[in-house]
Amino acid sequence: VTPAGAVLLAGLALLAVQVGRLAGRWRRGGPASVEWGKGLAGLPRAYLQVVHEVVARDPASARMHALAAGGLLGALALSLPVQILGLWPRLLAFPIVLLAVLGLVGSAIARRRRTGPQPDGHRLSAGRYARLPLALAATVLFLPAAALLAAAGDRAGLLWLPVTALGAAGMLWLAWQGHGGPMRHALAGAAHLAAHPRPLRTRGLRDTALAPLPLDDESSPLGAGTPRDFAWNRLLSFDACVQCGRCEAVCPAFAAGQPLNPKALVNDLVRSIGPGVAVPYEGDPHPGLPVAGLADVSHLPLVAAPGGEAVIQAETLWSCTTCRACVEECPMLIEHVDAVVDLRRHATLELGAVPARVAEALTELRDSDTQSGRALSERSNWAIGRDLREIGSTGEAEVLLWQGEAAYQPHGQRVLLQLLALMQAAKVDVAVLGAEERDCGELSRRAGDEAGFQRLARENVAALAKYRFGRIVTADPHAFHMLSREYPAFGGTYLVEHHSQFLDRLLAEGRLPQPAGDTPAGRVAWHDPCYLGRYGGEIAAPRRLLDRLGVARVEMARYGFQAMCCGGGGGAPLSDVPGRRRIPDLRMEQAQESGAEVVAVGCPNCMAMLDGVPGRRPEVLDIAELVANRCGVTA
Ligand code: SF4
Ligand code: SF4
Repeated sequence: VTPAGAVLLAGLALLAVQVGRLAGRWRRGGPASVEWGKGLAGLPRAYLQVVHEVVARDPASARMHALAAGGLLGALALSLPVQILGLWPRLLAFPIVLLAVLGLVGSAIARRRRTGPQPDGHRLSAGRYARLPLALAATVLFLPAAALLAAAGDRAGLLWLPVTALGAAGMLWLAWQGHGGPMRHALAGAAHLAAHPRPLRTRGLRDTALAPLPLDDESSPLGAGTPRDFAWNRLLSFDACVQCGRCEAVCPAFAAGQPLNPKALVNDLVRSIGPGVAVPYEGDPHPGLPVAGLADVSHLPLVAAPGGEAVIQAETLWSCTTCRACVEECPMLIEHVDAVVDLRRHATLELGAVPARVAEALTELRDSDTQSGRALSERSNWAIGRDLREIGSTGEAEVLLWQGEAAYQPHGQRVLLQLLALMQAAKVDVAVLGAEERDCGELSRRAGDEAGFQRLARENVAALAKYRFGRIVTADPHAFHMLSREYPAFGGTYLVEHHSQFLDRLLAEGRLPQPAGDTPAGRVAWHDPCYLGRYGGEIAAPRRLLDRLGVARVEMARYGFQAMCCGGGGGAPLSDVPGRRRIPDLRMEQAQESGAEVVAVGCPNCMAMLDGVPGRRPEVLDIAELVANRCGVTA
C-alpha cells in the first residue's frame, strides 16, 4: 500500500461512516419492502440511462455530470489497484491522468454553474453546493499526482508528502460534505436508485398510481405527520436531492408566486428528519414565506392543525396541483407528489385541517357521491332526448361512456353532447352507467381523503362488475387515470380510452365522416392535460387526431411531458391559495406566444381554468368539438 493508498482507504472508510450516519437518519422511517437484488443489479442502467436521460435535457448539465462524476469515479477505480495492490503503476498512470483531467474540467464547469449566472430556466443552489466542486477538484488532482509518483517508484521520495496531504484534504472535505453537505446527494442518490419506492421508474417506465393506504391496519399511519410516518426509503429519497432547482423551474404554483417551491419543500422534509444535521439551503424560499434557516425543526410536526407551528405551512401544501411536472424533471427521480399526498392524508384524516371549499367538496362527495352535491340520477340529464341508453337496460355495450363531474357543468355537457353525436355518427353501441356512476374519487384521493376515495372506488368497481362492455371512454383525464391506473388495486381492470384516443381510432378506421370543414380557422395548439400526458403517458394521440383533421397545429413553448399545468388539478381551484398571478393566465400567455388562435383541450378542468382567462385571447375548444366541426357532425 502506497501512502496514497492509505489515504484512499481512509477516505473511503470515512465516506462509508457517513453513509452509516445517513442510514441512521433513514432508519427513522417506517418499513418498506425493497428488492435489493434487483435494485442493485439495475443500478448501472438506472444511473447511466434513466437518470442520464433526465439530466441530458440540459446538454450542458449532462456534459458537466459525465465529466465530473465519470472522471472522478474512473480515476478512482483505476487508482485502487495501483495504490493499494501495487499493480500496473506504469500502465495505468496515463489513463488516470486523462480521467483526472476530464474530472477537473467537469468540476470547473460545476463550480461555474453554481456560482455564475444561472443557466436558462435553472435555479441551482450555491453556498456549500458551490464548494463541492472544489473538494472534487482537490481529490481529482491528487489521483494523477499519486499515479505518477507510484509509476516513478523509489524516485518519488519526499514528493509523497504534499501529494498525500492534498489527497487527505480533498477526501476529508468530501467526507465532511457527505452528511449535512451536498455530497449527501451522491451517497444517498446511489442508495435511492437501488431502493426506489417506485422501482419501475428506475427502469424508465411511467408509474403514477398512488399506493392505497391500508385503512384496516391500525398500526399503519394515516398519511405522514412526522418523518417516522414516511417509509424509510422515502426519507432516503429526500436526502438524494442535489438542489438543482429543475423542479422549481417547472412548478406552476411557484411561477404564479404561490407559496410553494418544490425544491424548498424537499429541503423542508430533509431538515425535518434531523436532529443533528445542519442541512444547508441556499435556494429560493417558498414565495412569500421566510427562507429556511439552519434551525433544527425535527421537533415540529410536518403539518399542523390551524394556528399550530409546523415544518410545512398549510398554504404550501394546498398550493400543489399534483401536476407531476417536478417529478418529471427531477434528475434524482424524487417523488414530490407522493409526499404531498401523504402530508395531505395526515392533514385531512388525522387533523381535519382542510381548506374550507375543499372540505365542502369532500363532504358533498361523502354525502352525495358527487363533488357538487347533485343527485346521481341527474347525471345523465344532459342527454335527455338524445337516445342514450343506460347499460342496465341490456346489461352490455360496446362502449361505456364515463360521464364524470362534467356532466353537471354547462361546458362539460356541451362536450359530452358532441362526443355522443360523434359516437352515434360512427354507429358506436354506447351506453352509460346512469345513476350507478359515482364520482371516480380522484379529488377525494388527491385531497387526502383516502377513506372517501376507497369507498367510491369500491362502489364503482362493484357497479361496473355487473355489466359487460368492451371499453370505457371518457372525456375526463382524471377519470381516465383513476379507472385505468388506480382502480386495478381495488379489483377493477378495464380497457379505458381518453376521448382523443377513441376519436383518433374512429377516424383512422373510417367510421366518421372524413374531415372537410375549415372551422375553426387558424392555428391550433394542444394543451396536454397533466393526467393524460405525464400521468397517462399519452401525448401522441391528440396530436395525431388534430393532424387527421387538417388543422394548422402549433406547439406552445412547454408541451408534451413538459407541458405546463392549467392550475386545475389536485383540488387547487378549491383551495385557491393566492399568488402574484393565476396559473391559467400564465398558460394562456404561452398559448398566445405560440401564435395559436385556438387552444384545444381534452379535460373539463383545463376547459374551466383556461376558458376563465379574461381579455383577448385564443378561443378554448375541446378536441371533440373540433372533430365535430371538421367532420360536419352536429349535436
Ligand atoms: S406537482 Fe406541480 S404544482 Fe405540485 S410541486 Fe410539483 S410542479 Fe409544483
Ligand atoms: S427535488 Fe429533484 S429537481 Fe428538485 S432540486 Fe432536488 S434534485 Fe433537483
